[in-house]
Amino acid sequence: MKYSVDSKGFFGRFGGAYVPEILYKVVHDLQDAYKPIIESKEFQNEYESLLKDYVGRPSPLYYAKRMSEKYGCHLYLKREDLNHTGAHKINNCIGQVLLAKKMGKTRIIAETGAGQHGVATATVCALMNLECEIFMGKTDVERQHTNVERMRMLGAKVHPVTTGNMTLSDACSEAIRDWCCHPRDTYYMVGSTMGPHPYPDIVAKMQSVISKEIKWQLQEKIGRDYPDYLIACVGGGSNAAGTIYHYIDDDRVKIVLAEAGGHGIDTDYTAATIHCGTEGIIHGARSLVMQTDDGQIKEAFTISAGLDYPGIGPMHADLAEKGREKVLAINDDEAIYAGYELTRMEGIVPAIESAHAVSALKKLTFKPDDVVVLTVSGRGDKDVETYLKNKKMAKEYGNF
Ligand SMILES: *Cc1c(COP(=O)(O)O)cnc(C)c1O
Repeated sequence: MKYSVDSKGFFGRFGGAYVPEILYKVVHDLQDAYKPIIESKEFQNEYESLLKDYVGRPSPLYYAKRMSEKYGCHLYLKREDLNHTGAHKINNCIGQVLLAKKMGKTRIIAETGAGQHGVATATVCALMNLECEIFMGKTDVERQHTNVERMRMLGAKVHPVTTGNMTLSDACSEAIRDWCCHPRDTYYMVGSTMGPHPYPDIVAKMQSVISKEIKWQLQEKIGRDYPDYLIACVGGGSNAAGTIYHYIDDDRVKIVLAEAGGHGIDTDYTAATIHCGTEGIIHGARSLVMQTDDGQIKEAFTISAGLDYPGIGPMHADLAEKGREKVLAINDDEAIYAGYELTRMEGIVPAIESAHAVSALKKLTFKPDDVVVLTVSGRGDKDVETYLKNKKMAKEYGNF
């Protein structure tokens, strides 16, 4: 495979494992353990059975007729929004909790921004009867109160983090700090294709079920197993990684990703790391980072809490640099508009994160026969208030 990770966890120049010495052993143990466990028949059977009966997979591949007519292509939506807990994140958590159990870990920690990964983690910990502690920036605890209550109801302990900007990036740092204190019994469940090697590879593998299903679903529907375009939104990069995983080396398939432009990439209020980031180390990996000239990590800004991260997974830093992925920055107003558009044309309220991917349709020119698969990473129930509050933004931009 042309683009896969090497044995030290590098995707081209990006990736690796830059961890404090105290975590050296636990990270190396994980590097040695993950592949044999994930590839074992026993793991695969348990993982697949939970994905089917607990998560509700396969997620449908839905032909969006009205949107297809509008954009002059054949548009299929990969419905990750229909998964248990409302997004793709549960795929990863199911896999990692099984991995943690097989490694004999008894306590799970995780970081969360909007709370989606926290909820998915708390969910699988309840399922597996494991102790669960979630680190979440205090600002996010206040903004995302319902998800905090959900986590608490599921039995997780939520720690509001009061360092830095009190958002996702600080929650990651705090989770790493906790892991340093309890490396032996604790498994750190990373929520996206980021962090030190082997996490980006683990998370990409756990989400790869998305493209595995797309293959046979397309074969069934159109008689060939690949699309002309794959489109997904990208925060840390996990739903995008899952969407493209089995197509990365297939040059017939164009890959288009949407990152969060916030107010615009020419302003200070953006989360478009691939456009605006420079090379640096963030949370244990070399990647693109939004940072000041002296290396301080900048706060990311976007209307979408799930894309609010000043870094990007190393896999996407590499694929974007090599031109394998085309990355578009979608601004807040464009995402809000696209969210309304999908809602009104197909009756599907997407997560604001996913609405960024929908907005990419406007920026592409298709041939009438083009087959486009767009991943709807999550459902928008959590975002209804934001959509309604910002409706004016969509009005100014379009005509809802
Ligand atoms: C967390 C989240 C994202 C962003 O994370 P990725 O790792 O980039 O996929 C996108 N969509 C939804 C619905 C999310 O919850």
